[in-house]
Amino acid sequence: TVEELRRDFSVFEAAREQGAALFVRTPEGDLTYAEVARLVADRIATFERSAPGRPHVLVARNDLVSIVEILACLELEIPVVLLHPGLTEHEQQAQRDEIAAKRDPLPEGAAVVVFTSGTTGRAKPAVLTRRALAESARSSEANIGLAPGDVWLLSISPARIGGFSILTRSLRARSAVALGGHFSPEGFLREVESMGVTLASIVPTMLVQILKTFPGCKAPATLRALLLGGASASDAWLARARDAAWPVIATYGMTETASNVTTTPYAERYSGVVGSGRVNAFAEVRVENGHILVRGPMRMTGYWGETPLDPEAWHDTGDIGYFDEAGYLHVEARRSDLILSGGNNVYPLEVEAALESLPGIREALVTGLPDDVWGAVVTALLVPEKEPLAPEAIVDGLSGRLAAYKSPRRIAWVKALPVNPGGKLRRRPDVLEGLKLETLHYRKGR
Ligand code: ATP
Ligand code: MG
Repeated sequence: TVEELRRDFSVFEAAREQGAALFVRTPEGDLTYAEVARLVADRIATFERSAPGRPHVLVARNDLVSIVEILACLELEIPVVLLHPGLTEHEQQAQRDEIAAKRDPLPEGAAVVVFTSGTTGRAKPAVLTRRALAESARSSEANIGLAPGDVWLLSISPARIGGFSILTRSLRARSAVALGGHFSPEGFLREVESMGVTLASIVPTMLVQILKTFPGCKAPATLRALLLGGASASDAWLARARDAAWPVIATYGMTETASNVTTTPYAERYSGVVGSGRVNAFAEVRVENGHILVRGPMRMTGYWGETPLDPEAWHDTGDIGYFDEAGYLHVEARRSDLILSGGNNVYPLEVEAALESLPGIREALVTGLPDDVWGAVVTALLVPEKEPLAPEAIVDGLSGRLAAYKSPRRIAWVKALPVNPGGKLRRRPDVLEGLKLETLHYRKGR
């Protein structure tokens, strides 16, 4: 009900229920629900209300000031538009102008406008209601559980759904968040240990960095689940995480569904991850001709400024995948990342995994270089383990492992792969601009 939703996201209400309980843990010390509620009350006293029907705009950092501001908006039931602090001044201004130009009122119950990551183009403003946030929380809690005593590491901006939902889920469950700094393998392990973190959400490349920096390193004792999301993880690294007894839970989701809609069953977190897990309670996921479709009460009402979605209609995620016989979702690619080369579909993830399995290659990104004859030429950016390999070593290494049409024809060695502010790989041809590409020659008959 409306009253329940108000209670769920009210820090004042939470402070009345359990004022002495931990809510925000920072490197400088702990704040209880009562203490955070006082900060929110102070903030509300000086709050400049936006015009009726207009949202509040916030550059959202993972610090106490931004958290208090978000909680104030939830308390006042004023929708908030979140801008990412990683944007340049210029990009931020462009988003503000976008926002100012929007005349469409936000729908009833809108709590937040979260921009998608902008991986495939311009970031899109997804409108999420309180109900969507609550249903998303319920849906994920049904699997991993969340209760007072839990401490969820918030190490990314709340301007991303992954960060924002950590805050709203924790508030709703009356559990706590721990404010972490910029990710580094050392920093992450130190924070989890020193702040008694029980849950953490990271992108798969971060887990790879941890296991590369500290081979065989065991998970900190307090950590009961490590959620991986935002991109797919490589099977080889997941196997190493399992061997080192990390409690790994894969997730698949997006801004448009207020975070994850599939997760690894909690009971399987030590036994090895399969795909991106199973469909969460209350969420609906379907695959039609390879296209992943979603709907359910956690979905956005629509993109701000566009016609609201029919709640019954399926939303096309733009991702391609399949369900295996046991009901686990496997995400194969974004449709826009697929490379159409000489009439064949090439999945970058598959090619990247083959390249990363070669000794001497640390990381790989595969994209299609536009080509008049082939449509696109499979092209790889490679980060060497130490020194770049000879072209023949790659050609030999891939032989027997990858069909000829999937094998990269052009490569470039780089120090680091291009990522967006959320740490996601940008598999777009423009990442090749200005790079010197080498050509790989395969023997005939392959
Ligand atoms: P934009 O929509 O602006 O292009 P984005 O899709 O990266 O950016 P998000 O909503 O942050 O914005 O990310 C959701 C997308 O992330 C999914 O649609 C999917 O492509 C990818 N993703 C999330 N989880 C997984 C996963 N487990 N495996 C593979 N891909 C994933
Ligand atoms: Mg998207």
